[in-house]
Amino acid sequence: MSSFKTLDDIGDIRGKRVLVREDLNVPMDGARVTDDTRLRAAAPTIAELADKGAIVLILAHFGRPKGERRADMSLAQVTHALRDVLGREVTFVDDCQGEGAEQMVALLKPGAIAILENTRFHKGEEKNDPALVAAMAKLGDLYVNDAFSAAHRAHASTEGLAHALPAYAGRAMEAELTALEKALGKPEHPVAAVVGGAKVSSKLDVLRHLVAKVDHLIIGGGMANTFLAARGVDVGKSLCEHDLADTASAILDAADAANCTVHLPYDVVVAKEFRADPPTRTVNVHEVAADEMILDVGPAAVEALGDVLKNCRTLVWNGPMGAFETPPFDAATVSLARTAAALTQDGSLVSVAGGGDTVAALNQAGVAGDFSFVSTAGGAFLEWMEGKTLPGVAALER
Ligand code: ADP
Ligand code: MG
Repeated sequence: MSSFKTLDDIGDIRGKRVLVREDLNVPMDGARVTDDTRLRAAAPTIAELADKGAIVLILAHFGRPKGERRADMSLAQVTHALRDVLGREVTFVDDCQGEGAEQMVALLKPGAIAILENTRFHKGEEKNDPALVAAMAKLGDLYVNDAFSAAHRAHASTEGLAHALPAYAGRAMEAELTALEKALGKPEHPVAAVVGGAKVSSKLDVLRHLVAKVDHLIIGGGMANTFLAARGVDVGKSLCEHDLADTASAILDAADAANCTVHLPYDVVVAKEFRADPPTRTVNVHEVAADEMILDVGPAAVEALGDVLKNCRTLVWNGPMGAFETPPFDAATVSLARTAAALTQDGSLVSVAGGGDTVAALNQAGVAGDFSFVSTAGGAFLEWMEGKTLPGVAALER
C-alpha cells in the first residue's frame, strides 16, 4: 500500500464533482499547441474519472498572469487540444471559483469534462489563500492532484485543496511518485547518480543530498570542471566556478565519509572555440591547454562509466555530460544514455531521469522511451533530488 490514496481508493464517484489538478502549461505558437506531451500525460486520469461517471473539473495554471485576467493566458486556448487528445467533448468554464462557475458546473452531467479558467487569474492561488481554497472547494466533492510538476509549490490548487476535500493522487502523479520512490526512496543497491549540466552552484543541494544516498556519484558536464579544478587540475578556459573550490572539496570529503565513490572524467574532449564541429582534441585532464575548453567527457571515461552502470541496480540521472546541443559534444551523453537504456531493457537497471535539458538530451539520443521513467517536471524533480518534501505531495499523504 502506498503512503497516499490513489484512484483505486476513490470508490463510487458517479455524479460526484471531482476537481483534478493537472499540468496544462503547454507551449503555444499563436493559437496552436506546439507540444501536447503534458496533455497526453493528463489524459488517463481524466478519462478514467469520466468513465466512472464523475463530473471532471480540471484545475490548472497557464503562464504567469500574476493575479490578473489576461486573454493571452486563458486556458480556453487549450480546450481544443485537450479535446483532440482525449477524443471526447471538453467544456470550458471561465472561472475556477464563484457563482458563475458554480452555475455552469451545475449544468454538467455525469461523465462530462470541463477545464476551469487559469487558477493564477486569482492572487490567492500563489498565496494559498484559504478564501480562494474555500471558494474552489465549493465546486467539487473530491480533489485529485495529478500534477507532480507543480507539487513543489504550496498553492491553493496544489496544496490547499488537498486539505479542504478528500484528496487522491491521479495516475500520472502516482506513476511519478512510484518511480521516484524506487529510485531514491527505497532503491535497490548499488545506486548510481549521474549529475551533469552547466554549473555546480545550481545543483549544490542535489550533490550534497546524493552523496549520502548513492554508492556512485558520476559528475560530468561543466560542473565536473569545478571539481577537477578543486583537485588542482588546470582546466584552461573551461566553464568553471573557481570560487566554489572549497565547496567542491567539502562535497568530495562528504562522499568519502559516506562511502560514495565519486567519478570525475579522466579524459576529456576540448576545443578552442565553442561552436558546432570545431577542431577538437581528446586529452587526459592534465593535458588541457590554457586556451582550451573542456566541452565533453572523453571516450575512455565514458566506457569506464558504462562498466560502473553494469554493476548497479538503480540509476538516477540529472544533467548532460557535455555541451550536448553543439555537436560533437553530445557524444558522451548519448553513449552513456544508450548504455543505461540497454541495461534497463535487459532488466538489470532501474533508470530514472529528469531535468529540462536532460530530457532533451535523452530524446536526442533516441532512448527516452527505454528508461524506466523520465520525469518532465523540471523544478519539482530537482527539489525531489535535493531530498526536499514537496508540499503538494505531503498534502496527499494518508
Ligand atoms: P537540466 O536542465 O537537465 O537540469 P542543466 O540545465 O543543469 O541540465 O545543464 C544543461 C546545460 O549544461 C546544457 O546547456 C549544456 O550545454 C551545459 N553543459 C554541459 N556540459 C558543459 C560543458 N562542459 N561546458 C559548458 N556547458 C556545458
Ligand atoms: Mg536546464
